[in-house]
Formats: sequence, structure tokens, C-alpha cells
Amino acid sequence: MGSDCLFCRIVAGEIPATVVRETATTLAFRDITPKAPVHILVIPKEHYADVATLAQGDPGLAAEVLATAADVADDEGLLGDGFRLMFNTGTYGGQEVFHVHAHLLGGAPLGPMLA
Ligand code: C5P
Repeated sequence: MGSDCLFCRIVAGEIPATVVRETATTLAFRDITPKAPVHILVIPKEHYADVATLAQGDPGLAAEVLATAADVADDEGLLGDGFRLMFNTGTYGGQEVFHVHAHLLGGAPLGPMLA
């Protein structure tokens, strides 16, 4: 997508981000307004608007995003106590940046999802 997409610009190195892991196809970086002690976004480098478009368009790449999220969770020491992995999707899902991203949240008890 390129210059109109914030996360494509992070992939291109045009906007700074604190990158914690990079693979050939994915990037993981710290959220600028963390909602938990660990809050990392995991994205495919290729532009897909949301998780449904990604999963239907390239299921293998969707799996690579999940694998990167698991590796980051491991790096951050989250596998023992657990973590939350979520994709806000579309208007009702509260999505604000339309380049698919998994929120990886952890480091403290997060409580019930829909409390
Ligand atoms: O799921 P949603 O689209 O609402 O989340 C977008 C996330 O991107 C927010 O948590 C916001 O803090 C984060 N963000 C970021 N770096 C930017 C712009 C937004 O981490 N430069």
C-alpha cells in the first residue's frame, strides 16, 4: 500500500518504531501507547487491511504472524503466566490502523476480556 499506510511506513523505516523481532515476512514492535507492561504489535510486512483479509488471502502468512507472536511472547518471558493475543477488526472491533496487527499483551493479569 505504501505511503498512505502508517505501518507500511514503519516497515519501510520511514517512521521510527522500537522493533523487537523481524523475520523475512513479519515485524514486531512496541506499541507507542502500551496498555499493559508488555504491549507489542506483530504485523506482516505485506499490506493486508485486517485479519480476515489476511487469513483468506494468505493463510500461510497469517500463520507466520502467529509464529512471530509466539516467539516474541517467549522472548518477553510470557509463556509461563500467559498473555493475550488479539486482532481488532473493522469499525465494531475498534480497529484504528488498517494494516493488520496482532496486539500481544502481557506482563500482568489482564482480567476478563469483556468485563
Ligand atoms: O487495533 P488498533 O488499530 O486500534 O490499534 C492501533 C495501535 O497502534 C494502537 O494501540 C496504537 O497505540 C498503535 N500505534 C503504534 N505506533 C504508531 C501508531 C499507532 O504503536 N506510530
